Amino acid sequence: MADPRRAAAILGTQTKWVNGTVLHYSFFTAGHYAVPKKQADAIRGAFAKWKAIGVGLGFQEVSQLSEAEVRIGYSTADGSSASAVGRDVLTVPLSEPTTVYGWDLTTPYGSGTALHEIGHVIGMEHEHQNPFAGIKWHEQAVYDALAKPPNSWDHDTTFHNILEKLTAQQVQGSTWDPDSIMEYEFEPGLIDEPQQYDVNGLTPPGTLSAADKQWALKWYPPLQASLTALQPFQPAVLDLAAGQQVDFTIKPTSSRKYTIETKGASDTLLVLFEDINGVPRYLSGDDDSGDDRNAKITYKLFQGRTYTVRLRLFYPGASGHTSLMYS
Ligand SMILES: [Zn+2]
Repeated sequence: MADPRRAAAILGTQTKWVNGTVLHYSFFTAGHYAVPKKQADAIRGAFAKWKAIGVGLGFQEVSQLSEAEVRIGYSTADGSSASAVGRDVLTVPLSEPTTVYGWDLTTPYGSGTALHEIGHVIGMEHEHQNPFAGIKWHEQAVYDALAKPPNSWDHDTTFHNILEKLTAQQVQGSTWDPDSIMEYEFEPGLIDEPQQYDVNGLTPPGTLSAADKQWALKWYPPLQASLTALQPFQPAVLDLAAGQQVDFTIKPTSSRKYTIETKGASDTLLVLFEDINGVPRYLSGDDDSGDDRNAKITYKLFQGRTYTVRLRLFYPGASGHTSLMYS
């Protein structure tokens, strides 16, 4: 990709879900990752806190792991808490957890952990890796501290989770938010600069900060009550900024195979849902980001049913225009 703005826009948008997605989550109930009931309740409560911001994402618990995008495990034996980030959860094999908790989530610290991993699930990265943070580390002290229990991390894991700087596009904003739920707690002696944290350590409050809520509402604003209907063979011309999303309904007048596709040199994520009893059910998606082709879904749609098509723009391309059509 010759255009660095295109690469940056894709990197910054790729892990975000299309707004309006209902993420199904499920708990392991047996084996190594079995989640005790009181831990599951703490995680349910954390999903409710994220939803209470007013985000257009939905979270729905299902009993079958095989039906869940987000598969949650618990293991104090492993002792670490971690999650795949955003749409990367879809790349985790179905038999494995996407999100694992490694300690008690019913303490004040644990309730922050419950929220933090869900932050990863919706596409957030670590705030201490924000390149705008200006954090200088006592690197060897960080490796030594994290090599000890409960983390027992190897060199690469510590580098990946703490020392490695993210790109400007991967983080929440242009300034550092030490109160973010995506910030870790650090003991004194690990952060060299800003110096106050070297002396006092860093103890984030473990709750959703104002900037966390802003970020969530920017990517997942409240859903519009009614959407414009896309008409067959009539392209909708769109002028979207990088990261923006547009949604349409489709109400087919006959049952047959349809093609929904974008035109133009834009990079997009196109997702098709069917409305089933008011809940959007994912049918198909196509991500053309980084490819010189258009996003395209071919799917059999049925007369009398209602579908929603959601298009998230990664990068508008040279013309700045994208169009969407179904035929
Ligand atoms: Zn994390």
